[in-house]
Amino acid sequence: MQDDILSVLYSEAEIKTAVARLGKAIKQDYQGKNPLLIGILKGAIVFMTDLIRSVDDFVEIDFMDVSSYGDAAVSSGEVKILKDLDTSVAGRDIIIVEDIVDSGRTLDYLIKLFQTRAANSVKICALLDKPEGRQTEVTADYIGLRVPNEFVVGYGLDYAEKYRNLPYIGILKPEVYED
Ligand code: 5GP
Ligand code: MG
Ligand code: MG
Repeated sequence: MQDDILSVLYSEAEIKTAVARLGKAIKQDYQGKNPLLIGILKGAIVFMTDLIRSVDDFVEIDFMDVSSYGDAAVSSGEVKILKDLDTSVAGRDIIIVEDIVDSGRTLDYLIKLFQTRAANSVKICALLDKPEGRQTEVTADYIGLRVPNEFVVGYGLDYAEKYRNLPYIGILKPEVYED
């Protein structure tokens, strides 16, 4: 285990099972629909690459980069588009692929944005849900795993751009970000 990790919340095998379940659900719900999966950079990339291979049906992908956190462990509440889509969402069935729903502000913003851009439907697929962090009404349609109100890293999630490549989801030692 990496030195900065206090404990492992979800192992590689547990994540794999959760992602397979989500892929299967999406395959069933979107038969014949060719949904556009929009991965939110950078946290969702590891999840996204595993998820699309587990869907086992036609999907298209695109990416968007938004910021609400910077390098801080506490949300600023502000959402900014750093990279927009290459694809038009008008008339498309959108699935937003997120690493984690915490306050819900990022997703609240994105759902409204894609509705304004005339998407046919907008759903959310989040690997992790942190219900205690919620500051909005947002709930994900597809949820992989629930996490407690702790700062987690790994499987795409970072702290100050580190730990994204850990194959598991772990809780970071508080002293790492309190320094
Ligand atoms: P929101 O508060 O808008 O729901 O979450 C915004 C973003 O904050 C998430 O997409 C994720 O990138 C980041 N975030 C929220 N909670 C955590 C966490 O526990 N660990 C990490 N690494 N990022 C988090
Ligand atoms: Mg994110
Ligand atoms: Mg981050």
